[in-house]
Amino acid sequence: PLPDPWWKYLQKISKYPEKILSLTEALRIFKSVMNELKQSMISLEGSADKSLEMVLKYLHATGEIMWYADNPKLQKIVFHHPETLVEMLRAIFKHDFEKVVVFNEVFGQLAGLNQKKFEAMKEDFLTKGLMTLELLNFCLYHFKLTPEARDTFVDLMLKFDLCYELPSSLLTNYTSARILRFPWFLRTEASNEVFVKWPTKTPRNIIELSFQFVFPSKSPPNFFEKLSCRLQTHVLKREDWKNGVLAFMNKSRILLTREKKDGGTVILVSVRGSDLQELWGLLLKIYHDMKCLLLEWPLVHVEQNLLCSHCVLRGDNDPFLYPAETYLETICPKNVYQLQTCQKSPDTNIPACLIIPLDAAFQDGMGPHIIVLKEFLASLEDMVDGMGSGILTDFGLMYVAARLGAEWSLVVSHLGLKQAEIEQIQLDNPYKTINQTSIALQKWRDRQKERADSTLLKQLFDALDETDYKSLWDEIEEK
Ligand SMILES: [Zn+2]
Repeated sequence: PLPDPWWKYLQKISKYPEKILSLTEALRIFKSVMNELKQSMISLEGSADKSLEMVLKYLHATGEIMWYADNPKLQKIVFHHPETLVEMLRAIFKHDFEKVVVFNEVFGQLAGLNQKKFEAMKEDFLTKGLMTLELLNFCLYHFKLTPEARDTFVDLMLKFDLCYELPSSLLTNYTSARILRFPWFLRTEASNEVFVKWPTKTPRNIIELSFQFVFPSKSPPNFFEKLSCRLQTHVLKREDWKNGVLAFMNKSRILLTREKKDGGTVILVSVRGSDLQELWGLLLKIYHDMKCLLLEWPLVHVEQNLLCSHCVLRGDNDPFLYPAETYLETICPKNVYQLQTCQKSPDTNIPACLIIPLDAAFQDGMGPHIIVLKEFLASLEDMVDGMGSGILTDFGLMYVAARLGAEWSLVVSHLGLKQAEIEQIQLDNPYKTINQTSIALQKWRDRQKERADSTLLKQLFDALDETDYKSLWDEIEEK
């Protein structure tokens, strides 16, 4: 039972003629109801704002209205008719969008669209899921939203993972201020670019980590699309298609795919790169997103596996599977660098850092992990490559960095890096000596792109020789 003034207030706002109600307007009505009833604000919460907040929260909890108090952007709008929100979503999520959303001069003009532009944008929406702000205005025209209310509606869709906003760097085709992507409407297949940037076999001296969620029967509807929207918070660049996303973060790459298999659905998440800590960090963020999304479907059955990276890197298409709940929800213990866990090679020591996450914040013990991993990667290569094979790749330089230790700055200044550059790298990567070193070495390497590898190896050799790291060079040479 509502307190009498709240009941009066609810009646008043439900008669408010507009489709949505701004918080300012909600407050004005609230004050007038209180005045009419000669009710003191003090008897409620002290101030009108505070009292209104309490009332709106209560009405939201009972389902009379929708108001998201905890979000500073969303709280500016009150959906005093909750069904309006559903209608607004239906204006976009139409199964017959192609047929029913057609050009109309009046709406078009108000949304800043001529027919040609409209048709192009509609086509992009129906194939690539791209919704420009103009097309959105067109679809929502009859709700008569203020720009602020429309932005709130967009924020609400973002909050519920119904779409993601394309970063401005990707807004090439249009001059729109904002473009949203609704993965549900993607119809495209992976482009050739994807196969170039993510070849089927893991490139040499690249690390790959993967896990999968297997839904043996039907996968929950919307799971993959919502996951794809959430991914946007962890990445800088991406390419989307109907059943996948290839995304980029710093030098790491992320591949998310959905595949139908034996009547079920497999969602596979893989990361590739050379920075082990960053790779584990990304993989775990996505894993937690997926766990979190699963809460929306508490009864669904799903198997969660971590793929054995030892098998994956060996090119085995049927890698050993570990239970993800055990392996991904722990941190590699101190001083454990090798394990005999792969049932496909039960007697082999495999690098622990390939199957148990490393702590993203600390670099204690990173050196030995990298050294063990480099030895493993070197063992995969054929012997014909000769000296220094792979040393100039990002991971190879990471290995050199792991071996150098604290006196790395001597070596890189021999390679021509200036003191100021070294200090900047240190500032940008605090407490991460190995990262500092490998970034410095990459800088040196990238500056001489046009030179032959043998010249670079000679330079590195000289620098190691001058700084008493000759023994390291001898070891590298053996590999
Ligand atoms: Zn294995």
